[in-house]
Amino acid sequence: MIIKPSIRQTGAASEVLDILGVGFGPSNLAIAIARQEMAPELSTLFLERRATFGWHELMLFDTATMQVNFLKDLVSFRNPRSHFTFVNFLHNQERLASFTNLQTLFPRRTEFHQYLSWCAAHFDGRVRYGTTATEIETVLHNGELLFRVSAEGPNGPEHHLARNISYCGGLRPRIPFPVAGEGRVSHGYNLLRDIENHAPDSHYAVVGAGQSAAEITELLYQRGARVTAIASRFGYMPADDSPFVNEIFDPEQVDVLFQTPDEMRSKIFEMHAATNYSGVDLDLLKSLYAEWYHDKVCGKNRFDFKRMTRVISATHTDSGVCLEVEDGLKSTRSTLTVDHLICATGFEPRSVLDLFTEDLCRRVRMHESGAPVFDRNYALDMELDPGLAVYAPHMSERQHGLTATLLSNMAVRSGEIVESIVARRARPFTTRPEREIANAG
Ligand SMILES: Cc1cc2nc3c(=O)[nH]c(=O)nc-3n(C[C@H](O)[C@H](O)[C@H](O)COP(=O)(O)OP(=O)(O)OC[C@H]3O[C@@H](n4cnc5c(N)ncnc54)[C@H](O)[C@@H]3O)c2cc1C
Repeated sequence: MIIKPSIRQTGAASEVLDILGVGFGPSNLAIAIARQEMAPELSTLFLERRATFGWHELMLFDTATMQVNFLKDLVSFRNPRSHFTFVNFLHNQERLASFTNLQTLFPRRTEFHQYLSWCAAHFDGRVRYGTTATEIETVLHNGELLFRVSAEGPNGPEHHLARNISYCGGLRPRIPFPVAGEGRVSHGYNLLRDIENHAPDSHYAVVGAGQSAAEITELLYQRGARVTAIASRFGYMPADDSPFVNEIFDPEQVDVLFQTPDEMRSKIFEMHAATNYSGVDLDLLKSLYAEWYHDKVCGKNRFDFKRMTRVISATHTDSGVCLEVEDGLKSTRSTLTVDHLICATGFEPRSVLDLFTEDLCRRVRMHESGAPVFDRNYALDMELDPGLAVYAPHMSERQHGLTATLLSNMAVRSGEIVESIVARRARPFTTRPEREIANAG
């Protein structure tokens, strides 16, 4: 059964875009590059909420390094001869020789941010910064079924028509327990902004056991803070980036995982959780331990690790923030008051369905888990004219694997998406939607 859309007619002369991108982080930047190199005839526009390009700037700690080999930049695995390789960026900045002398495959995040900003600057003319997409619907425009994207820009509301939407809205910070009051509880995602007003020797609780939790703990500790780390594990566990296991991030594995039955795929992800954010870089883990030990030697004891412990709730008080915690080893609950609580408790993908009208939402095929279903090329499986598509690659971890929210496979994935859009464009569909709708149901 095809559901009839509630279609509005629009006749205004307006550019119909081949690709309207929502968000201009690394994912859509990789798509902008792939389109320029593979299909420059496709018209594009990207809407980005931020005022300028940025990549998690409030977590760009000076010493934080990439969790991915720099060869997994935005293009190399698809087109190693591209202008947009990390190596060409270094060459352009006259740093290729000195970078090589570092003998590392894992640059600092600050440098990768420079690389991404350098790439993004090439597309300034096709990005509307300071513009937030607010709604996506379908409309009939001069007899053609199209997407209409509403947005709030610097000059007020605006609307764009497109055949394909590339929604790469990224991740949203998540805090998995209730917080009453505000001001003293931050998600690690905003750390560099929030700690500006904190006394460096404050007492912090840092909740979480992954890479971000360890990086935050180190940063606060180096600033002179007292840190109580709260983790639901026995200790920080090392990230596994050993070669056999790391193959899970290879582009070829997307096909394998996509065809694997659901149950087996979930099992594989569970077994390989330590390859992702939840593991900590071994060097960082060791240096944290060494700093803590040195403090102990000096009698300072500024670090406390509450293992197998989870936070039940956080409540602001006059003097700080009071945490109710459950010690899993002793099966007891207690309270702990600190000056500030930092939650390194992870992220969840922003969903394009939040922007869809009700009618459009009903057209998306959903899996029994509650997640939307995607095709192999990262387009939502929707009851819609085959000439139209919504791509949302970061939402498809369940089907495409752990690379969905990571940089690892962006080069190849963006090429696949552009190829898929070119293939859709080749379909003749000028007035077909009206006929299909007329015959439906
Ligand atoms: C601190 C940190 C470090 C990381 N390090 C690594 C790493 O080393 N290696 C790795 O592989 N991955 C890493 N990641 C994972 C991360 O998801 C990817 O690096 C990358 O940011 C994904 O790119 P993206 O474009 O999908 O999402 P994002 O970078 O989050 O970009 C999404 C963009 O969409 C915009 N946006 C959202 N909604 C709207 C809207 N409605 N309208 C307009 N604009 C909108 C946002 O403002 C944002 O700019 C890290 C993540 C974090 C938080």
